Amino acid sequence: TVFAGTRLDDLAAYAAKYGLSGLEFSCGIPGSVGGAVVMNAGAFGGSMEQVVCRTRYIDSKGQSRVLDGRDHRFGYRQSFFSEHRDAVITEVTLLLEPLDRRVVYEQMSDYAWNRYQKQPLAEPSAGSAFRRPEGNFAGALISEAGMKGYTRGRAGVSDLHAGFIINHGGASASEIAQIFLDVRDAVFQQTGIRLIPEVRFIGAWEEDDGIRSLIC
Ligand SMILES: Cc1cc2nc3c(=O)[nH]c(=O)nc-3n(C[C@H](O)[C@H](O)[C@H](O)COP(=O)(O)OP(=O)(O)OC[C@H]3O[C@@H](n4cnc5c(N)ncnc54)[C@H](O)[C@@H]3O)c2cc1C
Repeated sequence: TVFAGTRLDDLAAYAAKYGLSGLEFSCGIPGSVGGAVVMNAGAFGGSMEQVVCRTRYIDSKGQSRVLDGRDHRFGYRQSFFSEHRDAVITEVTLLLEPLDRRVVYEQMSDYAWNRYQKQPLAEPSAGSAFRRPEGNFAGALISEAGMKGYTRGRAGVSDLHAGFIINHGGASASEIAQIFLDVRDAVFQQTGIRLIPEVRFIGAWEEDDGIRSLIC
């Protein structure tokens, strides 16, 4: 059991050190364990839903509550908590399997190397910009639409991995959002598939019809 504010990659490193398998997939996913539960963070075929068995949280009335197993209602980048935004996760209990720590480390370093080669980790981004459409990959569709490396103002699409939207330096939230719109529209025109953002837009976007259409 860990506090929800624990960094996910610290936890994965700790598990590896003690020869516990299950969190290898999380190597390189930035953020906290609590955030990872909310988002059902995942990569390389693994996800939080495979290891989380219990969550303690504070509900909107200030009561401490517990959620077990299937009650987390995990889905692709969603959970009970993404539907109950007023809940605050405080502790997470995970079920990990004993495994030779060298095997765990080896798997983690493979994943880290894969990320290093394929993702623009040195540039500011919010990770995968769009959700993965059924039976497809957002990055592949964005490339197909000719938007890989697309730049407008101080923001653009990564030229290493088209699934990432990059702040090239000083871009405002509106400039970043404009890239989301340009990419979504280009992909729709090219493929007929409407991409849905994986990242959350927070703030006062209500006045902006374009951005509102992204959020809905
Ligand atoms: C370079 C890069 C690579 C990434 N790769 C991946 C990847 O491979 N797979 C993946 O799934 N994601 C990936 N992400 C996205 C992100 O790292 C994950 O979604 C991560 O789990 C978010 O954790 P966080 O703590 O930063 O949460 P935040 O982004 O801060 O929050 C996410 C949501 O959870 C809520 N929340 C956070 N903590 C709590 C809590 N304790 N109680 C209740 N609600 C809470 C927030 O209010 C928000 O609604 C990547 C991001 C970047 C920048």
